[in-house]
Amino acid sequence: MRKKNVILENVSVTAYAAEGKALARVDGKVIFIEGGVVPGDIVDVRLSKNKKDWAEGKATQIHTYSPDRVTPFCDHFGLCGGCKWQMLPYESQLAYKQQQVEDHLKRIGHLEFPALPPILGAEKTRHYRNKLEFTFSNKAYLTDEEIREAGEDWPRRNALGFHIPKLFDKVLDIQTCYLQEEPANLIKNTIRDWAEKHELSFYDIRRQEGWLRNLVLRICTTGEVMVNLVIHHEAKEQREALLNHLLATVPGITTLLYTLNPKKNDSIFDLEPKVFFGKGYVEEKLEDFTFKIGPKSFFQTNTYQGEALYKVTRDFAGLTGNEVVYDLYCGTGSIGIFVSRSAGKVIGIELIKEAIDDAKENAAANNVKNATFFAGDVIDICDDAFFAAHGAPDVIITDPPRAGMHEKLTAKLLEVAAPRIVYVSCNPATQARDLALLNEKYTVEKVQAVDMFPHTHHIENVVLLQRRY
Ligand code: SAH
Repeated sequence: MRKKNVILENVSVTAYAAEGKALARVDGKVIFIEGGVVPGDIVDVRLSKNKKDWAEGKATQIHTYSPDRVTPFCDHFGLCGGCKWQMLPYESQLAYKQQQVEDHLKRIGHLEFPALPPILGAEKTRHYRNKLEFTFSNKAYLTDEEIREAGEDWPRRNALGFHIPKLFDKVLDIQTCYLQEEPANLIKNTIRDWAEKHELSFYDIRRQEGWLRNLVLRICTTGEVMVNLVIHHEAKEQREALLNHLLATVPGITTLLYTLNPKKNDSIFDLEPKVFFGKGYVEEKLEDFTFKIGPKSFFQTNTYQGEALYKVTRDFAGLTGNEVVYDLYCGTGSIGIFVSRSAGKVIGIELIKEAIDDAKENAAANNVKNATFFAGDVIDICDDAFFAAHGAPDVIITDPPRAGMHEKLTAKLLEVAAPRIVYVSCNPATQARDLALLNEKYTVEKVQAVDMFPHTHHIENVVLLQRRY
């Protein structure tokens, strides 16, 4: 069984592994299976890797469907990379996520930890994202069936939707997306219809030509709606006609921007969005704190669960009003601002300068006077002189990206030895790895997973560490 390209038949899927892969055991060997299978399915698997103790492959056929499965609610399920866990009841999704947090703490972290409270599930499991980005493409992804049905007439070529996972130039045309509240679909479909009717060109990423590139929508819990249309170059008449039509057709847009992007890549961070209508930003609320979100600002994409996550974080920090709190990887300062009233002072650090500018503005707008923010790499900024200047930390809150913390930072945290560390993570695997290092001085006191992204395998996890000595 060491050969690649082996097909294993009638494999019983028994569990979920990390990253949305499922797991089975065949002759004592662990098999990781991709391709949307769930525990309880019986499938054939084509192996792509075959090692001594484990193998990996893709399901080629499902013989028996798990009794656990439910019917996906979205027409685009199966092709779209978005909500890949729709075939699982929400309760099962939560159970698998919870299990994964526990497994990582045990198997990667080799940690002792208290019994985990249930993961905080979302009340709103659809329409929960405040931000979505759609892509225009002249290479619509078509299924074999769609191509066959069309026969001689090549069907629709243009698409406005999401990239197909692993196919960089193909975009799946999306009619109804359940990730964002209306008027998201209305905006998207209005623009597509107008563009098709007036033969405006959809971008060709390979040839680097075409006019319409991206559409970024922000629909806030405050009711504010921001649209940023990214086009390749200025074409004033055509642009004004389209944007005016959008405003006339879709009620509720509070801010409409457009951005010229002549570059090869889709990133708008080095570009200057221009305001066509409205104030140029939207506002989102967490408790009674207001956050100003511009077209380039970062903000938690699920406002509802973002608030839940921050409450857990604040609760774990156990603040009494006097503490010196460091907020590492602070983004636009939202965690620091959220905990500021319970703290003596807050020091936020973040790599991206624009995010720090937003953090300062957000603090001022919320009348938060005890928070200061610094732009730079946490590894460079967090040296002895910095801690000496700003005060020995009582609590360190850290919220690194998926890669987790750099080893230099964990080493520094061990040296600084704050009494408490609250570790917020969007990747419980790297979190468990980092906790194993911090275990030298810290005990895992509390763990709380939060489900920020229903119908996906993504997990957010908060851990409270208490210094041992
Ligand atoms: N705590 C914030 C954002 C967390 S996302 C919130 O809740 O909104 C992680 C952040 O870490 C990103 O903003 C990213 O820009 C920043 N980051 C990544 N590497 C970094 C580094 N080496 N030093 C400082 N910040 C970094």
